[in-house]
Amino acid sequence: MTGSLAKLYPLNNLFNQKKLTLSLDLVYFSISMKSVSLRFYEELNDFLPAKKRKTLLRISFTGRQTVKDMIESQGVPHTDVDLILVNGKSVNFNQIIHDGDKISVYPEFESLDISSVTHLKKPPLRNPKFILDVHLGRLARYLRAMGFDTLYRNDYTDNDLVNISLREKRIILTRDKGILMRNAVERGYWIRNIDVKEQALEITRRFDLYNLISPFKRCMECNGLIRSVSKESVMKHLQFKTKEYYDHFFRCTSCEKIYWKGSHYERMNHFLTKTLKKGSK
Ligand SMILES: [Zn+2]
Repeated sequence: MTGSLAKLYPLNNLFNQKKLTLSLDLVYFSISMKSVSLRFYEELNDFLPAKKRKTLLRISFTGRQTVKDMIESQGVPHTDVDLILVNGKSVNFNQIIHDGDKISVYPEFESLDISSVTHLKKPPLRNPKFILDVHLGRLARYLRAMGFDTLYRNDYTDNDLVNISLREKRIILTRDKGILMRNAVERGYWIRNIDVKEQALEITRRFDLYNLISPFKRCMECNGLIRSVSKESVMKHLQFKTKEYYDHFFRCTSCEKIYWKGSHYERMNHFLTKTLKKGSK
């Protein structure tokens, strides 16, 4: 009887076999499925979609996973993480997670003394240097005008950014979270703001640069150092009105661009004064 049914309904038979395989897969899947509870603190929530912010997340996973993989699977780059507690114990990025683990993830604490735990972030650089991704050309000009050593080229590849940042101990500034998730990256920061002035302010605040701002130190075009030069030495390059109204000049030691304290300077000065004022609040 079974044989004849199989002959009569070969398609149905096939379907049943497939269903069997499928349900075995499901059994295997549910056995191997593990979950952890995960919570991100403070500004790490900026990386999460609104509904996941400041709540306890239950995340399912299979196989062997490090805590770094788990954190980055939620969109939070390891470069922003300074402390991870798994079941109350401070761990490093390579910790293998287990079913039922309770994971808390923190950014750098500004004022809390947590010296007894494992800090995961590289210590801050005394004189921070930056390298910017290809989309941040305007910010590069601002940071250079503020006197910060800032590399930028519109043809840097992601590999260039990572290699130069490691070689020269530069902080990668980017709007692309993906690059900060590369294992090799040690120092990086994901810029939240879109507006260039807000970005410059954000960087000043984040890296506490208020006391390091030094206008007329670097060339906005090429990052070279600029120095004061005599009016005579640049006279032949000046336009009539500039000659007429200005007496103090600066020149880039690298690309030779000439600077003076004209309307550009006034606007930048106004911005910096405002930046410093906001920072002192
Ligand atoms: Zn220059």
